[in-house]
Amino acid sequence: MSMIELRSVSKDYPGRRAVDAVSLRIETGERVILFGPSGCGKSTILALIAGLLIPDAGEILIDGRLVATAKRNLVEPSARGVGMVFQDLALWPHMSVAENIEFGLRAKRVPKSERDRRIREMASLVGLGDYLTAKPGELSGGQQQRVALARTLAVEPRILLMDEPMSNLDDALGEQLRGEILRLQNELSFTLVYVTHNKEEAAALGTRTIRLRQGRVETDTGVV
Ligand code: ADP
Ligand code: MG
Repeated sequence: MSMIELRSVSKDYPGRRAVDAVSLRIETGERVILFGPSGCGKSTILALIAGLLIPDAGEILIDGRLVATAKRNLVEPSARGVGMVFQDLALWPHMSVAENIEFGLRAKRVPKSERDRRIREMASLVGLGDYLTAKPGELSGGQQQRVALARTLAVEPRILLMDEPMSNLDDALGEQLRGEILRLQNELSFTLVYVTHNKEEAAALGTRTIRLRQGRVETDTGVV
């Protein structure tokens, strides 16, 4: 049983097939890179795994459980155990670091005392223990990345999806954050699916690379 399995999954947009009969299996604890040029279907595959999009054909399973089939969503995004960090981070600008981290915990109706404990734990895990009351606009780009990570990981997802999260950062900061992601994965042991078109990033982070081309799997190997 695989952690994530796509069986011949397709997704169409008007006039174009974004994902074309893709089959892949990702095992627990893997760090899989989805690699390929702009427009090859990387973000669409993440959205299908997260449940933000519904496939037009095929089946998606998480932990052996069918979560979506052709045009049918069987398990809501919030019930899939999947967390996602987007390129634009989507932090709430009017909320403090603590409130941003708390957001998903509230949505999951985690009790207040437990929320407070997890906010402190996650903030300190990403090195922002002293910034709980700061607003995102008062933080550096790297610190904002860490808030996005802490917010997503606070709800303890078993799968973390990241969609080109470093593309707005300079190289040194990117390298530092990659180290952070590896350390967090080691501590929290989520399965990582990470989208990039940067070879160096793929090599540094992935245990495996799936190279996509025009909505299809081109190669599925250990290296880029
Ligand atoms: P990638 O993330 O690899 O750049 P995407 O998954 O975003 O690729 O897009 C795959 C294809 O689907 C592209 O050709 C893109 O133009 C198209 N596409 C993506 N989102 C939409 C949308 N909302 N409406 C129409 N076409 C879309
Ligand atoms: Mg994309």
